[in-house]
Amino acid sequence: MTTAPTTAAAAPVVTVRDLHKSFGSNAVLRGIDLEVTPGEVVCVIGPSGSGKSTLLRCVNQLESATSGTVTVLGAEITDPDINIDVVRQHVGMVFQQFNLFTHQTVLENCTVAQRKVLKRSKKKATEVALENLARVGLADRGDSHPTQLSGGQQQRVAIARALSMNPSLMLFDEPTSALDPELVGDVLTVMRDLAEQGMTMIVVTHEMAFAREVADRVVFMDGGVVVESGPPEQVIGAPREARTRAFLDRVL
Ligand code: ADP
Ligand code: MG
Repeated sequence: MTTAPTTAAAAPVVTVRDLHKSFGSNAVLRGIDLEVTPGEVVCVIGPSGSGKSTLLRCVNQLESATSGTVTVLGAEITDPDINIDVVRQHVGMVFQQFNLFTHQTVLENCTVAQRKVLKRSKKKATEVALENLARVGLADRGDSHPTQLSGGQQQRVAIARALSMNPSLMLFDEPTSALDPELVGDVLTVMRDLAEQGMTMIVVTHEMAFAREVADRVVFMDGGVVVESGPPEQVIGAPREARTRAFLDRVL
């Protein structure tokens, strides 16, 4: 039995408040509010150019906000005095273009950051990497080079590499968009498993069936604002906003 008071809500993993981001005169994010609680899976959908990638990049400070605040795991990362590397250690990111180190083996890809950043021994890092390669169904491919793998396998290595840092939050930016259609399923299965195991995730995706099934909440962005947000059966199943309906009509 838990002894925690029933009124205590778990602290959010991510809190975004009135986030603005401009590139020159191009106002890409125009006042985003978003909160992600532990274990929550949030899928971000919306047309190309609506600011989805920029939002994710602001959440791990690959881009710095023009104004507003982003708080990740209790640390306000928009504060210029924060040590962003400490926060980033706990945030895994998976990109559309896998970004594996092609001159390294799969196993090396999954151990290098563990050793450098977390100072794990070679033995421990290898053990953790093999555990995570097993989670993505690639336990036997540690000695392969990324170029010997299919795109779907490479993306699963990228996920295993991120998981090997024991992140508290995983960010996915269209992880299946660069894949041949027949390779998408295996990657989505890995992500679904991860969600079921309780990982907190923000997923930018065009896979509406995945969003419908796996997301706790769907956020529809257009023109740098959140137009509509709610459970998938509402936002995808019965959208309230005309802009959401117009987008879904194009992609479904
Ligand atoms: P989405 O991921 O929804 O397609 P993005 O966040 O990638 O949208 O891009 C939104 C807008 O921001 C686009 O107009 C894009 O050209 C612009 N943008 C994104 N990154 C940069 C950058 N580093 N420099 C200048 N403009 C950028
Ligand atoms: Mg994008």
